[in-house]
Amino acid sequence: MKLDHIGIAVRSIEAASRLYGGYLRLAAAEREELPGERVRVAFFDAGGARIELLEPIGGDGPLARFLAARGEGMHHVAFGVTDIGAALKEAVAFGYRPVDPQPRKGSGGRLIAFLSPKETLGVLIELIQSERDREASDRDPKSG
Ligand code: ZN
Repeated sequence: MKLDHIGIAVRSIEAASRLYGGYLRLAAAEREELPGERVRVAFFDAGGARIELLEPIGGDGPLARFLAARGEGMHHVAFGVTDIGAALKEAVAFGYRPVDPQPRKGSGGRLIAFLSPKETLGVLIELIQSERDREASDRDPKSG
């Protein structure tokens, strides 16, 4: 599998952009609100992989609880897969427990699923299916 992105929990995407878009000079890519997940996200291109900043919407979602318990910092590591259904079955065969029994739609409409960090050495791992229509969902890559 290939590293797709690293997710970082922040209280404010605007404040964190000073580091990632400013000092580190990563190019801003997609931004999206995922009200169902109670987060807004902003991606930055970092060579072959990306940084995903995750900011909570309101104080009652899983990310808000993560921030309250652990503060800002690394939230998950995402690996790209070509067939997420097969990758989940293989994870179970390896003894890893999916948080999501079925893949669901994440940012950009890509199918994602998380593995429980209890079995993955404390790191929340996201599987994300490669997208074939990236151009269509990447209308304004330089905004923000
Ligand atoms: Zn992610």
